[in-house]
Amino acid sequence: MELRFYNSYSRQIEAFQPIEPGKVRMYHCGPTVYQRPHIGNYRAFLFADLLRRVLEGYGYEVTQVMNLTDVGHLLNDADEGEDKLEAQARKDKVDPWQIVETVSRAFFQDLDALGVIPAHHYPCASDHISEMVAIIEVLIEKGHAYRVGDNVYFDVSTFSRYGQLSGNKVEDLVAGLRLEINEEKRHPADFALWKSDPAHIMKWDTVFGEHGFPGWHIECSAMAEKYLGKHFDIHTGGEDNVFPHHECEIAQSEAANEQAFVNLWMHTRFLQVDGGKMSKSLGNVYSLDDLVARGFSPWDYRFLVLRGHYRTQVNFTWEILRGAKESRAKLIDWRSRLRAAMRSGGGVDTPATIDAVTAAHEVFDAAIADDLNTPEAIAALFTLRNKLVQVGEAGSRTADAAIALLDHADSILGLFEPAAEVNVDSGALSDDQVEALIAERAEVRAAKNWARADEIRDALQTAGIVLEDTASGVHWHRG
Ligand SMILES: [Zn+2]
Repeated sequence: MELRFYNSYSRQIEAFQPIEPGKVRMYHCGPTVYQRPHIGNYRAFLFADLLRRVLEGYGYEVTQVMNLTDVGHLLNDADEGEDKLEAQARKDKVDPWQIVETVSRAFFQDLDALGVIPAHHYPCASDHISEMVAIIEVLIEKGHAYRVGDNVYFDVSTFSRYGQLSGNKVEDLVAGLRLEINEEKRHPADFALWKSDPAHIMKWDTVFGEHGFPGWHIECSAMAEKYLGKHFDIHTGGEDNVFPHHECEIAQSEAANEQAFVNLWMHTRFLQVDGGKMSKSLGNVYSLDDLVARGFSPWDYRFLVLRGHYRTQVNFTWEILRGAKESRAKLIDWRSRLRAAMRSGGGVDTPATIDAVTAAHEVFDAAIADDLNTPEAIAALFTLRNKLVQVGEAGSRTADAAIALLDHADSILGLFEPAAEVNVDSGALSDDQVEALIAERAEVRAAKNWARADEIRDALQTAGIVLEDTASGVHWHRG
């Protein structure tokens, strides 16, 4: 089935065509590592993971890059204000590099907890200063950038496509966005490629002076080019990245290289919390730990996100998360019942039940191919489940096909925590694996994560392990 994606640049759904047959190169704007990302930030990163899984499911060899911004992202997203990292460092009274390390570690732990397949490269902006300087020098040489003292600005008047992605016209920008008047700029909409500030802690001695640091936008142009080349397939980010960040990336890269930069731009809508923007003052800026502390698995959050289409509003409340958790638990339960049905072999196989599975598979794939319509794909699973449940226990052929569909859906969406998969099907759990699962069950029970505890109990049961809860702890034997 042909993959079709909405391209933010053309504002149209387009059939996906890679630049190089069989290969996809893609770049995602990653976190600015000044604070541990909140659950809303992860919506965009989960989208990147979904895209990766779908493309690999289609057999593409994917090269995936997500950057970490550790310098140059100023508080207002544009050219003024303090560096986010340095502002946080001042508040916490620590070295900014220490924050980079702590936050990056938390970020990778979160990605892992969410079941995100690691990207091939996670470049850090501060490790790519020479690449940025090289592009800036080219831009100056070609007349697209100019130096004022130790600062360098991009001259937007030299790039006619500036504004095409965001739909912003340069004239309107000046009035509409109330750009702060900066006497150094030739045009108020010009943006900084390189800034100089002796007070900056994270700074580099380059051809532009002793105390410089990069603008946020040039970082992504440089890192994308280094790992993916001058022209690559897909670039994603949150909707807030469209302007100025991505608009500026396009201008820099295309002006410097005199060729197309990215074929397909994809943007994820923000997550809403309690129906609005999350904010510190409302106390609803949640981290993944906050969810786990309330007995949810990060995978429940992942499921909540997938239940909404990436270009639509998705709202987060504890109630909605509970609904997502219950809904996911139904899929987990259904899968173990299908496995049991496979073993018993006494259920119902009719042409109708087999056809229902085939039809669900088709609907699932068609939904994913249609601009990653995950809610429709998930709905197809539930429609099938409800149909089969009405018939009674599934026969082994029906169960086999339904399990294959669930495995396929899991590979694309990431539905089930993989630890549950430990060899239970073969009935050949090693003693170590049994012990590990029992230990995990105790842990998740303590955290009141009942769905996971039940999942483990079922998995053990399926593998023929009998548990006895006694005063001296859990004993087990093979049944
Ligand atoms: Zn970026």
